[in-house]
Amino acid sequence: MVGTRKFSFIKKVGWVLAAMLLLGMLLPERFQMPVRNAGKASFHPQSFWYYPWGKSGTHKGVDIFAPKGEAVMAASDGLVLYTGNWKMGGKVVCILSAQWRIHYYAHLNAIQTHTGQWRSAGALIGSVGTSGNAEGKAPHLHYSILSLIPLPYRIDTSPQGWKKMFYLDPVEKLQKLYE
Ligand SMILES: [Zn+2]
Repeated sequence: MVGTRKFSFIKKVGWVLAAMLLLGMLLPERFQMPVRNAGKASFHPQSFWYYPWGKSGTHKGVDIFAPKGEAVMAASDGLVLYTGNWKMGGKVVCILSAQWRIHYYAHLNAIQTHTGQWRSAGALIGSVGTSGNAEGKAPHLHYSILSLIPLPYRIDTSPQGWKKMFYLDPVEKLQKLYE
């Protein structure tokens, strides 16, 4: 009896996880520019996967330049997974969004959200700064979109090209906003 009950519990958990995974895949993605008053001139169109790029090898995101203190907003709706100091990123915010993507916001001057908070696209999460390895450089938001689900079709022959299965191109997505 106990064994059967245990099995049905595991089955239930399995179904819930499967449903969550599917829901995460199906949720529509709202998307917007994450820096207030920024436009298509605020980032370099070739900055994604730029090589060579210091210790990281390639630049796995986009740098959006703005005055220090400018508002950083969630680019997409999601759940805040992490806020705090993270290595070269300095003050960072990580948000889990639709399609099991993690939106990563780095070099912040201030963080204005916390772990566990739901942030809609456009909601304030912090401000542009120079924290982490952006110290001494022009203030900018480093913004990356990671996919927790590997996307092998994105792999190419560029340096570290295999890692592209875990990174979406934010430049491509931002440029679409200005077409
Ligand atoms: Zn960067």
